[in-house]
Amino acid sequence: MRKKQQYIADKQNIGRIVDFVRDRLKECGIKQKELVKVMLTVEEAAGSLIDHCAVSPEESGKITVIFKAFMGNVSIELSAKGEEYSLANNMALASSAYEDGDGDDIQESIRNIILGSLADGLKYRHKNGINYICMGLVRSKRAFLYQTLGAMAAAVILGLIFSSVLPDSVNTFLNTNIFAPVKTMYMNSLKMVVAPVVFFSIISCIVQFSDLSALGRIGAKIISLYLLTTFIAVGAGIGIFYLIGPGDASLAAAITADASSVTSQTMDVSIKDTIVGIIPSDIINPFLKANMLQLIFMAVLCGIATGLLGKYSGTLTDFFSACNDLFLKITGLIIKIMPIAVFCSIMSMMLTMGIDTIISVMGMFGTFLLGLLAMMLVYCILIIFIGRLNPVYFVRKYLPYMLQVFSLASSNAAIPVNMEACEKKIGISKKIFSLSIPLGATLNMDGTCIHLAVFALALAKTFGVEVTGSAMLSMIISIIVLSMGAPGIPGAGLICLSVLITQMNVPVEAIGLVMGIDSLCGMFRTMSNCLGDVAVSTIVAKSENELDMEIYRK
Ligand code: ASP
Repeated sequence: MRKKQQYIADKQNIGRIVDFVRDRLKECGIKQKELVKVMLTVEEAAGSLIDHCAVSPEESGKITVIFKAFMGNVSIELSAKGEEYSLANNMALASSAYEDGDGDDIQESIRNIILGSLADGLKYRHKNGINYICMGLVRSKRAFLYQTLGAMAAAVILGLIFSSVLPDSVNTFLNTNIFAPVKTMYMNSLKMVVAPVVFFSIISCIVQFSDLSALGRIGAKIISLYLLTTFIAVGAGIGIFYLIGPGDASLAAAITADASSVTSQTMDVSIKDTIVGIIPSDIINPFLKANMLQLIFMAVLCGIATGLLGKYSGTLTDFFSACNDLFLKITGLIIKIMPIAVFCSIMSMMLTMGIDTIISVMGMFGTFLLGLLAMMLVYCILIIFIGRLNPVYFVRKYLPYMLQVFSLASSNAAIPVNMEACEKKIGISKKIFSLSIPLGATLNMDGTCIHLAVFALALAKTFGVEVTGSAMLSMIISIIVLSMGAPGIPGAGLICLSVLITQMNVPVEAIGLVMGIDSLCGMFRTMSNCLGDVAVSTIVAKSENELDMEIYRK
């Protein structure tokens, strides 16, 4: 939506300007609280523009209001001809009146405080003799989800048009020079922050514990429950696969995509080597290779040692907390370009593989979704029987967050979101969630387990590879080890799948069949992974008396 309105720059028109903006905001469904703040800001901004508006003898000045709303974002721009002035000073003046105690009128004082706090959200510029004041606000927390889904839909439509209208050479050029590089840059930027995010968030959690035995008890509970849900998820994935039986030999002929970008990765899938490999031989390599298990080990050790240091404990604790905040902030910034990255990665896939192939793997996708539903049910059962809690509150509280983590497609990026849900909505104490959430982001990937089981078995069926007896057992072990070692970043599950099918003697090119829908699968995997982390955190918090029942039931 884009609406433009012009008014004579006269203070008597401020009310009409405010009314115009209010009506548009209401159309967009802005909440009342937000509405009042914005109206106040618009009123003030319009007043300051009118004060500085250039009026010539022959014509009175005009003030233009442009209101834009697109996919959850709303922006309001006010402009008028006039001399350059300092908006910040204008607003600061208003708020200082309160600080100096000049404001006798209490209403005026409150208004000044609000204006002072709003000044930061305004952008002022002066160009070609015109003063512009712009304010942007996000309509809803789901705006990001809408943008991501919009980017997905746009990529599918444009991908279809491009591949049927443009010559292959042009599509290849676009893919290799625009879409594939953007996708790679985005993935690299996420990989860049994975190691520090996991490392610092675990340390800053551990340093909060003054009692090591409590840390051990809570840690053991969390890890045992993570293991339990992981086993159940693998079982659910295998069970649902045999129930539905997706995958058929005709699909084998449809492989066209280049799987080399995925299959060049390797991972250790032997249990003994995994356990031995948890202890790194130096402190740099775990960061360089983003080896999650080694990073967790080092973080736990650092956290415990920091608590035991005495003299420097406080300084180091502050330092680790600051680093933790820093990397979570960086992750948040990277995630902002997610819609663009999703658009490019789907475009890249649409241009490299046909829609027919994508449609034909929908059977596997549907089976995978059923597995996720079954897993949701399992969490509810665990919450009832182990947590002794009513799961309806849990589901109702976490549902809006599920949409957010869905669009993030990364458990690591979702760490701050999940922590907020745990603390503010579910009522879990920081002591529990600051350990369980970062640990779960890496160790607990139930959605990924279901995905691996369903897709690996379906691809094996497609390529005529029998999976029975010891092959099945080794597949189960591999899924567990892979899911625990994989970082919570977008696309991690696809890399695990390529390792798994290679180990099962399924031709690695088979990965090309499922690459097209992996962005979407990855979002569902993440949603389920995070749901599992929060469900386990809730159960552990309840058992430790660290769950605020008032918040939980609210
Ligand atoms: N992206 C998922 C996550 O972060 C992992 C995956 O791709 O399976 O939880």
